[in-house]
Amino acid sequence: MKAVVVGAGVAGTAAALCLAEGGAEVSVVDGARGATALSSGAWDVASVSSGSPLADLSLADRLRTFAEARPWHPYARVEAVVEAVSRAHCSVLNALGAYRPLDLDSPGVRIATDHGVIRRVATIEESMLDLDEAPDGLVAVAHFRGHRACDGAALARALGEDSGAAGLSFVDIPVEFLGRKNDVQLGGHEVALLGDAADARLRLAAVLRRALPGTTPHAWLLPAVLGMDFDDPAALLRDAVGGPVGEVAGTTGGAQGARLTRRLAASRAAADVTDIVARASAIDGASVALSDGNCLDADVIILATGSALAGVIVASGGVLVEPITRTPVVLESFGTLTAPGAAFASGVTVDDGLRLLGEDGRRVGDGVFACGAILAGVSYADGTGLGASVTTGWLAAEAALAG
Ligand SMILES: Cc1cc2nc3c(=O)[nH]c(=O)nc-3n(C[C@H](O)[C@H](O)[C@H](O)COP(=O)(O)OP(=O)(O)OC[C@H]3O[C@@H](n4cnc5c(N)ncnc54)[C@H](O)[C@@H]3O)c2cc1C
Repeated sequence: MKAVVVGAGVAGTAAALCLAEGGAEVSVVDGARGATALSSGAWDVASVSSGSPLADLSLADRLRTFAEARPWHPYARVEAVVEAVSRAHCSVLNALGAYRPLDLDSPGVRIATDHGVIRRVATIEESMLDLDEAPDGLVAVAHFRGHRACDGAALARALGEDSGAAGLSFVDIPVEFLGRKNDVQLGGHEVALLGDAADARLRLAAVLRRALPGTTPHAWLLPAVLGMDFDDPAALLRDAVGGPVGEVAGTTGGAQGARLTRRLAASRAAADVTDIVARASAIDGASVALSDGNCLDADVIILATGSALAGVIVASGGVLVEPITRTPVVLESFGTLTAPGAAFASGVTVDDGLRLLGEDGRRVGDGVFACGAILAGVSYADGTGLGASVTTGWLAAEAALAG
């Protein structure tokens, strides 16, 4: 089977990995970046705010509750959603090799964001700190003295005031790490690149050890700057400091999204998936036309081009359509745009097997599927983030392999 996936975010990569595992010859077409590159090391599957009555439920129970409450969301249309999420994540997280396995019987992992919010997410990149591992609930918020991109004192204060901070206290500890005069002006991702230098992590471990106040046990929370090149960038620090050390969930467009993008590319390469740097300009039932004039024939085509509101939407004949397939972009069952954030959930429609549907509600072709944030009903604001994209990507590929 020949398969072409359009879009190399988490959804497209999950689809590509599943297709490759099933024996298909897979190409992934992309020439830019999408939301995946902007995400942090915190992986959402069915996240809620700390104050929600659902916050203490297991992820599995939250998934079921979420699917019941939002019949328009792809989760609600998946048979045995918990098993499907588990199956997809087991394979994809394993291929990425840098995230904790997903434990759907747990309420997830408690993390801090660099905006001073504490929340539970489904899983995390190994680089990040699990706040529940902090000895005595005491967390040292380390920051590099003078570094303009991170105000450690404000961060520690905000985290201490967050409603999710029960049982935790935060102390800010400036450390001397940025040696050169202009280093204090560097962005987080630039400091992360510095962190790849051979001796930088050892030096950071030494300054953390020196800065540790007395013998009080601490977990160290660091900005998202622990290098770009390592599978577990916090490992050396944990060994050196002798306790939990990890990053906050980082800012949009920072080191964690960049590391995920690199790992997705590496996982595709390891699965013998061919990456093609190009934009798709049109899809019919059996081929993908590229903007460089080439055309790829395929038995299966998977559309994984990300949120319609991120630019993949055009007006045509008085209706909004997805530009490559010319299929309508709808709000699924929302009806109006009056609900907060509702527009983010606009997208293309699919049948229960994730086959793309056209204007007349009929399949565009038996071999054309869609997945990820391009689907109607999926929103950046709904707490299903990377998890919904991976799950629908994996399921679209399973459906394609099943024929
Ligand atoms: C700022 C931000 C922060 C977020 N943070 C988190 C987070 O911390 N945790 C979390 O779980 N979720 C987070 N999310 C949500 C999550 O990132 C998205 O839901 C998920 O990445 C969507 O994945 P996707 O593969 O469907 O789409 P995308 O990642 O957007 O991938 C779509 C890909 O398709 C490509 N593409 C588009 N058109 C074409 C074309 N014509 N030809 C070829 N390629 C094309 C794009 O270049 C892009 O690479 C965040 C979202 C945003 C916007």
